[in-house]
Amino acid sequence: MPFTIAIDGPAASGKGTIARALAGHFGFAHLDTGLLYRAVGAKGGDPIAAARNLSTTDLDRRDLRSAEAGQAASRVAAIPEVRAALIEFQRRFAEAEPGAVLDGRDIGTVICPEADLKLYVTASDDVRARRRALELGADEAKILLELRERDARDAARDVAPMRPAEDAVLLDTSALAIDEAVQIAIGLVRRAGG
Ligand code: C5P
Repeated sequence: MPFTIAIDGPAASGKGTIARALAGHFGFAHLDTGLLYRAVGAKGGDPIAAARNLSTTDLDRRDLRSAEAGQAASRVAAIPEVRAALIEFQRRFAEAEPGAVLDGRDIGTVICPEADLKLYVTASDDVRARRRALELGADEAKILLELRERDARDAARDVAPMRPAEDAVLLDTSALAIDEAVQIAIGLVRRAGG
């Protein structure tokens, strides 16, 4: 049986960094599921058709990390048919041996409810905005508004809203250096049997 780690949380909480580090440490496959929604949003046209026809080359676009791509992703992510079209790919990915780390918003609640470990990674709004502004070389105040708007939409949507699974471990990275957060996460994986 492969070992599955589900990591959810709001934008720029540190979940992607932790997911990548865990995958590297344990030799697991890693899927940044936000990239799927970003690629659907960036394709333009009918988002449902875009999700149904998504290919791996769509994930290679260079503009997917921008704040605009994040907003477009959040809008298409609220469409039930878009989410439905992406479920199977994510679940199949989660079966990778010897294990897989998936990060997103609904991994512990919808995609992998049986995951061996579920983490819900958070950080204060200010810390998240500072991190993302540094990463994108963008204005912090503008990024703060963008993150809040996106989180509100992601948490309020009817289908697969962003929220921790009941059995998720909460990890607040506001006051943690990257390495500290990663070490805590590694400890949690070990305790869960990984
Ligand atoms: O994680 P990232 O910021 O790249 O995600 C972009 C957007 O994709 C999120 O704001 C959210 O609307 C959507 N998303 C989602 N479910 C996931 C991953 C991302 O709805 N599992």
